[in-house]
Amino acid sequence: MFCPSVSARADGDRRSGRQALAAVAGVLVVALSACSPESPIGAPWHAKGRAAEDGSIPADSSISPYDSDHPAIARLDPELLSAVRTAAQDARAAGVELRVTSGWRSKAYQQRLLDDAVTRYGSLEEARRLVSTPEKSAHVTGDAIDIGPTDAADWLIRHGRDYGLCQTYANEMWHFELSTAPGGECPVPRDDAAG
Ligand SMILES: [Zn+2]
Repeated sequence: MFCPSVSARADGDRRSGRQALAAVAGVLVVALSACSPESPIGAPWHAKGRAAEDGSIPADSSISPYDSDHPAIARLDPELLSAVRTAAQDARAAGVELRVTSGWRSKAYQQRLLDDAVTRYGSLEEARRLVSTPEKSAHVTGDAIDIGPTDAADWLIRHGRDYGLCQTYANEMWHFELSTAPGGECPVPRDDAAG
């Protein structure tokens, strides 16, 4: 559900003064509209159109690991999601907010990301260093999650192994998979997604 994560988010907001008040007020408005029985089912990402069906999250935004009605979260491997949520709670206690910038992706969405990367980097070979094919991507099977912002990814790189979460690729500090038992050792990250 969206609503419980909203109140938790307001509690964890460490910004001070007017900024915090504005943030809390904004969250409350969202919470009221999302929870109001007469409003259409409406988390903010719904307002951006049908795009979320394929697991996409707009490039300039992120969602909470508790936004379980978003397909990017709902279609993750339950074990991975549970580990991320536990980590998010501990991170919050340490003053760090873990946000999800990408989770489960449909094959079509993964292909779109790959096509965009080919356009941007000029060749399939270069693109594949950052974006896997739909056949190979752990996002498509629900076994990978991208975490932001930078301080959150950094926190998870340092503490992820406590939850079994490991950085998979050396060139993607945001991408994590369940790659060890909780408390175990993470495998050495591969150079990139093409390896
Ligand atoms: Zn990723």
